[in-house]
Amino acid sequence: MSTVVGADEAGRLLDALIKGDMPDDKGRFGPFGGRYVPETLVPAFERLDAGVRAHLHDAEFQRDFQKELREWVGRPTALSFAPRLSEAWGAEVWIKREDLAHTGAHKINNAIGQALLAKRLGSQRVIAETGAGQHGVASAAACARVGLPCTVYMGAVDMERQAPNVDRIRRLGAEVVAVESGDKTLRAAIDEALRAWVTDPDNTYYLLGSAVGAHPYPYLVRELQVVIGQEARQQMLDQAGGLPDAAFACVGGGSNAIGLFYPLLGDDIELIGVEAGGIGDGLGENAATLATGTPGVLQGSYTIILQDDDGQVQETQSISAGLDYSGVGPEHALLQAIGRVKYISARDDEALEALQELCATEGILTALETSHAYAAAREYAQQHPGCRILIGNSGRGDKDMPTLIQHPARIRRHASS
Ligand SMILES: *Cc1c(COP(=O)(O)O)cnc(C)c1O
Repeated sequence: MSTVVGADEAGRLLDALIKGDMPDDKGRFGPFGGRYVPETLVPAFERLDAGVRAHLHDAEFQRDFQKELREWVGRPTALSFAPRLSEAWGAEVWIKREDLAHTGAHKINNAIGQALLAKRLGSQRVIAETGAGQHGVASAAACARVGLPCTVYMGAVDMERQAPNVDRIRRLGAEVVAVESGDKTLRAAIDEALRAWVTDPDNTYYLLGSAVGAHPYPYLVRELQVVIGQEARQQMLDQAGGLPDAAFACVGGGSNAIGLFYPLLGDDIELIGVEAGGIGDGLGENAATLATGTPGVLQGSYTIILQDDDGQVQETQSISAGLDYSGVGPEHALLQAIGRVKYISARDDEALEALQELCATEGILTALETSHAYAAAREYAQQHPGCRILIGNSGRGDKDMPTLIQHPARIRRHASS
């Protein structure tokens, strides 16, 4: 998919997005987004929507949220200049350090924001779903912090694959429910969480982990993650003396990317989202949704998805669990359609190599998800000598050690100076 609307229409849509006129009251980002859910779920979504409109931007909620971000999450996160990577790439590289946020990634910004919202709405308990377990950990931690019981639905297959995170979630006081239905992975866990929500929508808050799904989640999650881009923009002005030429973020569902990009949409900055190219270009060999997908409805939202000619949603493949998703947030679908953000992909082996280079030059063990952004940024730097680059470092890679051990690094020693 490339630009699919005319220049005038694209300009109008971008202006509306920047001014905050999107999504509209139906949750639409241009043609994308909306709310495609079964009748039984409509009241729960409407109640949440009303709650978001009433509380998200009121002064008291924002004061509580900013306080938690400061005192518990550890914001603002640092912006690091990367001297040795800059030298290696022939560019000026700056890194926004979401790996330094509590629990090791940007996910906590959203989790604590929604946990506070659940409290404000008078919910008695929180439910969440998790695939790789990272959102389960963030949700459990946030619920412990605000004092709400939390139940995390997780596919039985994923529980086996991610055993340390299951233990982490339980230690943080949440209950983990094994989902034995369907594919026993993330998609089945989402179905199960939605079922639980329908049975008791008045007392239950459903804490969704990325900028995906039916309205208002893509909007809500973006609003809780824009702190990344707001801080990074100011830090670039203060520390680098100006804005970057290009900014990069990895894209799974798209929450860290929209958080970084949204405050930069009105600036003269090339924005590049990087998806998982997996092991190849074939259907089922990657999770490069925007790069290769087509429009359709997935989990309540009209967006770009990976599907076959019959509309069957495709399995995905990626070395990074956090990017392994066959859909993408609707706001990204619009940003691609109007040509404001370019979406490309990096393969597993390219991500691994980028991770190793960053480790050895800057002493930062980044997440496998994030490594995809570095792989793309490196290629960009080669094509644009001397450019100034900002990379959203969405999380840390300690969680990825079991995978990394299976892919021994070809350690390249760098000459010491
Ligand atoms: C979950 C995760 C992602 C992918 O999620 P988005 O919603 O696309 O941001 C990226 N990086 C890290 C470190 C993650 O944990």
